[in-house]
Amino acid sequence: MPKIKSIFRKSIEKIKPYKPGKPIEEVKRELGLRKVIKLASNENPLGPSPKAIKAILKSISDLNRYPDSNCFYLKQKLAKRFGLKEGNFIIGNGSDELIVLVLRALIEPGDEVLIAYPTFLIYEIQAHACGAKVIRVPLKSFRYDLERMREKVNPRVKIVFIANPDNPTGTYVTKDEVNKFMEGIPEETVVFFDEAYYEFAKDFPDYPDTLQFLGKKNIIITRSFSKAYGLAGLRIGYGIGSPYLIDHLERIREPFNVNILAQVGALHALEDKDFLEKTMEINRKGKEYLYSEFRKLGLSFVPSATNFILVDIKRDSREVFQALLRRGVIVRDMKDWGLNNFIRVTIGTKEENERFIKELRRLII
Ligand SMILES: *Cc1c(COP(=O)(O)O)cnc(C)c1O
Repeated sequence: MPKIKSIFRKSIEKIKPYKPGKPIEEVKRELGLRKVIKLASNENPLGPSPKAIKAILKSISDLNRYPDSNCFYLKQKLAKRFGLKEGNFIIGNGSDELIVLVLRALIEPGDEVLIAYPTFLIYEIQAHACGAKVIRVPLKSFRYDLERMREKVNPRVKIVFIANPDNPTGTYVTKDEVNKFMEGIPEETVVFFDEAYYEFAKDFPDYPDTLQFLGKKNIIITRSFSKAYGLAGLRIGYGIGSPYLIDHLERIREPFNVNILAQVGALHALEDKDFLEKTMEINRKGKEYLYSEFRKLGLSFVPSATNFILVDIKRDSREVFQALLRRGVIVRDMKDWGLNNFIRVTIGTKEENERFIKELRRLII
């Protein structure tokens, strides 16, 4: 192909491709390794919810049918659980899809989108894809600086993204900080609370209950089945908002965005209390173990409200990432987030955590 003047929209030329965590199979193949562990994408180390698996297997024979476009049973269950109406919910092909839908529904080229920096990379990528002007507010001590962010809000800002807890830092903003932020927020501005790690943080006494803003402010809250419920591969998440906002998102949603197995899996995962408890327990224990090993190695880390930890490894993160990879341990190199000496590690099973620490120790001592 001859090099021609780009045929693409200028806003898309600016976007750097998102690099996901490396899949286990790819690393095995490329490096000829047999035993590879992945602690790179904040997946559930226990596998999928067993109740979800059972229900999914039963639904396999329905795969000749299109899925329910409206995700009726899932919306009904969620509505009951939160004391809301079905019309308060939208179901997405992962909560990632809801980020895209909200941007597409609200952004005219040139509108402003306010984000923290660094934070979850998808906000900025998708905001650019819609032609938005992205305003970044730096983190302060690895936390969202909601005061500074509030100063940047004006009626031109259409969306503010707040990952709570945040990825890749694992920190969260508190009830008081959020209340102050929401005070007098313009009607034109939608505040997007991305609560993909909600289940890990919800019991902290100062973790905000963002549902309280429903019907009072322009907000959307998203949550995911990918992390605590172990269904990342199915792709399903939900959004909560006013019926007015949800109705507009529904207009531009693809009719069959959520597949049959994902709907059934999510419905039954919500009932799997036992699995959720086990997930929280293995995460709590793994976190304590990793904290104590990092201290022994003289490494500092950001205390996490999630299922991953951001660690300062005090050397080039790409080199450490590559060296761990060659030894069959996949973590996340934080260079793409501008954190050059950091890796992000997902809390795994006991065996996975021990193997990661063993390989890390070998590298840095
Ligand atoms: C993992 C993650 C998501 C995406 O979740 P899906 O439901 O799998 O699309 C959204 N936001 C943050 C902050 C995440 O870390």
